[in-house]
Amino acid sequence: MIVAPISQHLDAVRTASKPFVEFLMNSAWAKRLGAEDICDFVVGNPHDMPLPAYVEAIQRASIPLQPNWFGYKLNEPVACEVAAQSLRDRLGIPFESDDICMTKGASSALVIALSTVLNPGDEVIFQSPPWFFYESMIAFTRGIAVRVQVDLTTFDLDVDAITAAISPRTRAVIVNSPNNPTGKIYPRETLDRLARALGAASEKYGRAIYLVSDESYNRILFDGRHFPSPVAHYPNSFLVYSYAKALMTPGQRLGYLALSPSMLQREHMRSAVLATQCSGYGFPDAVLQHAMPDLEPLCIDMAQLQRRRDFMVHALRRQGYELHVPEGAWYLLPRSPLADDMAFTEILAAENVFVLPGCIIELPGYFRISLTASDEMVKRSVLGFAAAIEAAEQMSMCH
Ligand code: PLP
Repeated sequence: MIVAPISQHLDAVRTASKPFVEFLMNSAWAKRLGAEDICDFVVGNPHDMPLPAYVEAIQRASIPLQPNWFGYKLNEPVACEVAAQSLRDRLGIPFESDDICMTKGASSALVIALSTVLNPGDEVIFQSPPWFFYESMIAFTRGIAVRVQVDLTTFDLDVDAITAAISPRTRAVIVNSPNNPTGKIYPRETLDRLARALGAASEKYGRAIYLVSDESYNRILFDGRHFPSPVAHYPNSFLVYSYAKALMTPGQRLGYLALSPSMLQREHMRSAVLATQCSGYGFPDAVLQHAMPDLEPLCIDMAQLQRRRDFMVHALRRQGYELHVPEGAWYLLPRSPLADDMAFTEILAAENVFVLPGCIIELPGYFRISLTASDEMVKRSVLGFAAAIEAAEQMSMCH
């Protein structure tokens, strides 16, 4: 029997997402998901109870104050103003509420940004290692994905490689800072160089190249770091934001797409709102939009997350793992003691420790740890990590 999606265009989407989806559905982790004895570091799901203030805000917003409380919601003016004010305060960029399109998280905002600017066959450059779904989203919005590797020693953007990858068909470049999975925050100098390269290429080819800045983790910053937004450096920018990270509530779909106030084509906002409607009503549900004024100031305990990062980095280094210290986002990226990272993650799984193999995110020879695990899991995992590296060393000696 031939099993194929009805739409051929979904074939490209399916191919692009295959490694991750396979892992999600069929890995040893998928079979043990939710078991009490495992230490689960695979994806950014919460393993602690949500912030009490978050729960209270949702409870308050779910009590109707007028008949239309649960009526259709597009861009609620209060929610848009809260988002714009937050961007003004945190990034120093003069966003207004008219620049904001409320979305069901960053995923929705990414698809809408791409839908707004792409013609079929336009190329979109994304950085490797990537967040798993960029390539699928580019295919879904009828674009052609072009991958460019970041500098693998510094994890900074390779602006020369981006420049070399730009063609007359290039329409957009996606960057993600702070980065999942590397934890890199792209510095201002790099963002200036990128802006110059995109400006020059737009001139050369006579059509705008858009920057799509995925800033989902822009409040997850370590060591008192400041976050320079790529949007401040380049006028033709879309800013993608998700509350899933600062609030650690990815199942509550809340985020936005913001148009840079310096972008001249203001009609893109109307197109974005239309795309949000047509892509399956991608606006956040009424309760979340009503709750925005109370949710915006909340954030997970960053001091605790940083302590967790430091504990794990020290524990793993003591055991012989090689890993860098992330500047932002919530992932650690140790080198796999075996060249075959999938094989190594299976050894860890036998110790009840589950991590994401690097080959799933185009980074063979590494594995990714999500720091959204609880402190209790983190402590419990230490012996498992130690046993796994010992087993790997013994295997290497035997070969
Ligand atoms: N972008 C990055 C870099 C992410 O890590 C994630 C989620 O993990 C997303 C986008 C998707 O965010 P959301 O759950 O808000 O759609």
